Amino acid sequence: MSPRQLLVTYALPYANGPLHLGHLTGLIQTDIWVRFQKMQGNTCTFVCGCDSHGTPIMIQAEKSKITPEALTEQIRSSHIEDIKGFLIDLDNYHTTHSSENQTLSEEIFTRHQQQGNIIQQTILQAYDPEKNMFLPDRLIRGDCPRCNAADQYGDNCEVCGATYTPTDLKNPRSTLSGATPIEKESLHYFFRLTHFEKFLKTWTRAGHLQNEVTHKLDEWFSAGLKEWDISRDSPYFGFLIPGEKEKYFYCWLDAPIGYMASFKNLCARRPDLSFDAFWNKNSTAELYHFIGKDIIYFHALFWPAVLEGAGYRTPTAIFTHGFLTVDGQKMSKSRGTFILASQFLKHLSPETLRYFLATRLGSRIEDLDIAFDDFIQRINSDVVGKFVNIASRSARFIHSHFGDCLSDTVADPRLFSAGAEAGERIAGHYESLEYAAAMREIMALADQANQYIDAQKPWLLIRDPGKQSEAHAVCSMGIQLFRQLVIYLKPVLPDIARHAEAFLQCGALMWADKNTPLPSGHRLTEFKPLAQRVDPKQVDALKNEK
Ligand SMILES: [Zn+2]
Repeated sequence: MSPRQLLVTYALPYANGPLHLGHLTGLIQTDIWVRFQKMQGNTCTFVCGCDSHGTPIMIQAEKSKITPEALTEQIRSSHIEDIKGFLIDLDNYHTTHSSENQTLSEEIFTRHQQQGNIIQQTILQAYDPEKNMFLPDRLIRGDCPRCNAADQYGDNCEVCGATYTPTDLKNPRSTLSGATPIEKESLHYFFRLTHFEKFLKTWTRAGHLQNEVTHKLDEWFSAGLKEWDISRDSPYFGFLIPGEKEKYFYCWLDAPIGYMASFKNLCARRPDLSFDAFWNKNSTAELYHFIGKDIIYFHALFWPAVLEGAGYRTPTAIFTHGFLTVDGQKMSKSRGTFILASQFLKHLSPETLRYFLATRLGSRIEDLDIAFDDFIQRINSDVVGKFVNIASRSARFIHSHFGDCLSDTVADPRLFSAGAEAGERIAGHYESLEYAAAMREIMALADQANQYIDAQKPWLLIRDPGKQSEAHAVCSMGIQLFRQLVIYLKPVLPDIARHAEAFLQCGALMWADKNTPLPSGHRLTEFKPLAQRVDPKQVDALKNEK
């Protein structure tokens, strides 16, 4: 089978603040899949970037007295630092405020316009007469029309859960100036999503989406598709619509196009990659988008329609994940459960989070919880107590008695083949995003390896001068089994795997290496501890950080 060509993206984090553990959950889920694909010998490119446009960024920049360009570049640099810190193997972290994205967005808009997929309609919108700007729902607050709760957002009430439009609010005011909003007409551009209803009904049921997402979309289809407002009035931070001086593309139009732009930017410095080969209508390359469940509408409805109508290929699949909770609570600044990526790294290694998330992630759209007691237990028991322990207990004797060289035999070939066969099932779990199932299977193998060593008792054999070669064979077998586990855990624990590869003197391990043991007499280097136990004090320090 010839290697697959894959392009993988993760949803672009908004450029108004640093990355937190919610972002990391999706980035790590994606990274594990990308690393797994590379170990299979596939060509896999992973791009992302920040979503730099929109009113919130414009307002935040104004408050900080810097330009939106400067603000988003600062934030982008901090994202890149955090991404490196968590060992995310990204090929490019671009921004939607780029020349590539502007060119592509204009081109896609124009193609749709030529085909009659864009219409103009006058809408009535809330307007701040003091700031002289149209107000998005989130910038209007007032009393809930249903329960009278004070100080609620313009689109929904946090007290009684009512949803409404800002014009329904009692005593509405602009959060920017405090002025009472007036209503004003504006001519907006709409994308005719209804033109794509037939295409979307087929596409969303053709295996590109998880079943739960398809069901959600069926609800939207029954409710009736609506035309999509893709323009925003000045002042706005974004791209001007071609031919306009005061109207911009809504940031949700150019955000997914940002995936293409990030890839295009990468292609300019990677001659092995071709933009057209991945994005043309008949491309045989595979395209995967990993996203959070809050942005299904944009990715599973608008995005395939935007691509289809503009003459580009559509995604092979969209993978949606749930939200992260910390100790059973929604991440919240006031409860101290809002953890930034950089705060986590001050106290704990990135691989602790990577492994813990892997034990929790499946293919269904379920929320997942970091319960810290369980977190400590998983790292100390699985990674340190089971996995690394196999190497440390075997390497000790090989170093002190056998000059760091393995024996000439594989002591238990049946156990080795069973480990290799399990690798097929584990690969299936990774491919289908069932990481928790993969981790369970891997830890069962680690248990078997430890039980093998316990049963053979090399620490007794080594004291018997007549059983030296037996002791040697048993410890070497421990190393062979450890190496299989390194292969299986490498997508999740890339740094530990790199140090293990140095210890094993085996080069960069690929998935297929699971089938072949290290050769007889193979020389190791001296073993150094590969992972540290997590001390509950580290977790306390993280939680107490403000
Ligand atoms: Zn209410």
